[in-house]
Amino acid sequence: MLGRVFTGLAVLLCLSGLYGQVDFRQSIRQDYLMRDVYTLAADSFEGRRTGEYGQHKAADYLISVLEENTVPAYGESYKQSFGLWKKNLSGELWNQQNKLVFPRDFGFSSIYEPFQFEGTIPVYASVKEAVKSSREKVICIQAKSLMKFDIRGIKKLNVDLVIVACEMYQSDYFSSKIDDEDLAFQGIPKTKLIYVSASKLKDLSTGKIDIKLDLNPGKKAVETENVVAWIEGSDPKLKKEFVVISGHYDHLGIHNGKVHNGADDNGTGSATMLELARLFRLLKEQGKGSKRSLLFVWFTGEEMGLFGSRYYTTHPMVPLEKTIVNLNIDMIGRNEDGVEDGERKIFLVGADRISKRLHEISSETAAKKSGLVLDYKYNDRKDPLRLYYRSDHYNFAEKGIPCIFYFGGFHKDYHQATDDAEKIDFIKVREVALLVAHTAWELLNMEGSLK
Ligand SMILES: [Zn+2]
Repeated sequence: MLGRVFTGLAVLLCLSGLYGQVDFRQSIRQDYLMRDVYTLAADSFEGRRTGEYGQHKAADYLISVLEENTVPAYGESYKQSFGLWKKNLSGELWNQQNKLVFPRDFGFSSIYEPFQFEGTIPVYASVKEAVKSSREKVICIQAKSLMKFDIRGIKKLNVDLVIVACEMYQSDYFSSKIDDEDLAFQGIPKTKLIYVSASKLKDLSTGKIDIKLDLNPGKKAVETENVVAWIEGSDPKLKKEFVVISGHYDHLGIHNGKVHNGADDNGTGSATMLELARLFRLLKEQGKGSKRSLLFVWFTGEEMGLFGSRYYTTHPMVPLEKTIVNLNIDMIGRNEDGVEDGERKIFLVGADRISKRLHEISSETAAKKSGLVLDYKYNDRKDPLRLYYRSDHYNFAEKGIPCIFYFGGFHKDYHQATDDAEKIDFIKVREVALLVAHTAWELLNMEGSLK
């Protein structure tokens, strides 16, 4: 029926189908997927915390597998290295000659470089009011507490810095719960935020306050790296365009003496990418390379706040305007609590947000090639968990690049020391690898563009 209504589309799909006479089902190796997940999730990798021994060791492991399979680096090295600020916050805030004490009277987040400011700024009673009337770059908004502050609402403001004057400011709450990581995690990393105890600010009710700030987020203390490999396309023109397959390989490290192994999060995605790299490299060797080029990026710093992908998308190795799509794989080896074991459900997030055609290609490929049950519940814009903003694909989406986030579901071991390799369903991992391989293949060889 679809063919009769959309004849043009059907012909197009047939053509790409003709090019793509491949079936990856026999080629994807479950034993390799197991080997890689078990290795990355071993205690000797110490939970792969960004900037620490285990994360570097994991990067070296990824590279060793790539070398073994002769998947080349893009450029001179497999590593895209960069530095991260290790948090060591300190700062001063004055309000009409009054010096406030950090962190007893105020705290701050999303400030990555030393920051100074001096001036008189407007005070608004709520985020809503600020949205209506603010034209300033630095403003103050009143709030009952950190918990009650409409942090998502500030995205509608075109401001550099918001001082949140909290009636109930708790410095211990600030230092333990709200920090750069949490804010970046929610996809709201851009606006600098300062939380101040409202009782310490003079003349708030006048609608204007004098502020002087000198904030220091700490020192650049750690080096870390994304791992990047590629497979060059074979079409002289289209090979300048890229499909980027990504997933993070960092995790949470050691807490209270327990290694957080992150087998599912995201040993599974990292292993899937290694297997896809091996597969596409093999195809190319057999003279069946794709038309477009394929870039694999294993991101660091995801658990800290999507730092690796943010660094990549601000320092791209291939032009973003030639990056046609990002397929991001994060936690795909388990079933969500409540889903029956045999069902093997995969959640797809984001596919239709920037390109309707991407969603069409993705869902048609899945129907033809995959044994997984597809679920779009986390793609609902009203879903309170907001997964669209919570993994590395979001940094591509922010640059206008269509993306799909493949996610296997939440379970009781999420972000616990018990996220171990024995609990992974490797049949499911293999099915996801198959789905991503076929979807990537269609995108690598399709006619026309996604937008
Ligand atoms: Zn995680």
